[in-house]
Amino acid sequence: MIIAIDIGGTNIKFSYASPDGILGAVESMPTDAYLGADNMYKRIENLIGLADMSKVTGIAISSAGQIDSDKGRVIFATDSIPGYTGFEIKKRLEEKFKVKVTVENDVNCAALGELWKGHLSSESFLALTLGTGIGGAIVEDGKIYHGSGYSTAEFGHLALVYKGLECTCGHRGCYERYASAKALNEQISDKLGDMDTKLFFEACRQGNEAYLRVLDQWVDYVSEGLKSLVHTFNPNLILIGGGVSAQGDYLADKIKESLKGKVMPSFMKDLDIKMMTLGNDANLLGAVYHFNHQ
Ligand SMILES: [Zn+2]
Repeated sequence: MIIAIDIGGTNIKFSYASPDGILGAVESMPTDAYLGADNMYKRIENLIGLADMSKVTGIAISSAGQIDSDKGRVIFATDSIPGYTGFEIKKRLEEKFKVKVTVENDVNCAALGELWKGHLSSESFLALTLGTGIGGAIVEDGKIYHGSGYSTAEFGHLALVYKGLECTCGHRGCYERYASAKALNEQISDKLGDMDTKLFFEACRQGNEAYLRVLDQWVDYVSEGLKSLVHTFNPNLILIGGGVSAQGDYLADKIKESLKGKVMPSFMKDLDIKMMTLGNDANLLGAVYHFNHQ
């Protein structure tokens, strides 16, 4: 039995998994990130401490931040979890519990989870998660492309608008300021007033024109960023995750249609755009897949 943990900026998820990826019940607790990395780590340690360690073969972790997946260490994390940069998760947990521990970035884990259990048409693909920001993963022949310092695929900070809106990275005009789920919510509340994203999509599906104008504008931003990625990577599959993935083919088809008008035809020939299908389980499953292959 493997303990699988997903450390996000908002929640920490915890489950037991079999090596072939059957998850038990998933427990969730708030990250309380503002209390800092040490506090968060202690609570994770306490949670693991409740398990019968004689039955546990290892601990598989998916985590926010830039992660050195060989050393299981946080290379860089924003101030959303103070003190998390430099945190030695693998070393500390291995010393404490004397079992194998692996750590990989959460978007990479989501991509690996989908690769393992998502019935994909290809083992090479790009993945984007649209949330507060936009995370990315590059998978080539079933393996994560890590770059020189484990920090590839920061798709959220692609340049989209020259001298555009200010971004959390300290620069302007980044992709995620226009095309993240948070940006969609801002655009909705700007044009239509505050509302639940699900209700917004329902109105769009019913053909409400004012709502569709807002959606089409956001889809236009999404595909504008994908245009750069498609011309750079020539992928045959792009997977999109985050809360909007619940919109399935309705949204995937809109993005694909919008992209069609922006890239050279040869790039569209074999390109499919799909939503992630595993939802919240993708990160945990990907952590277990990474554990199995580390
Ligand atoms: Zn940025």
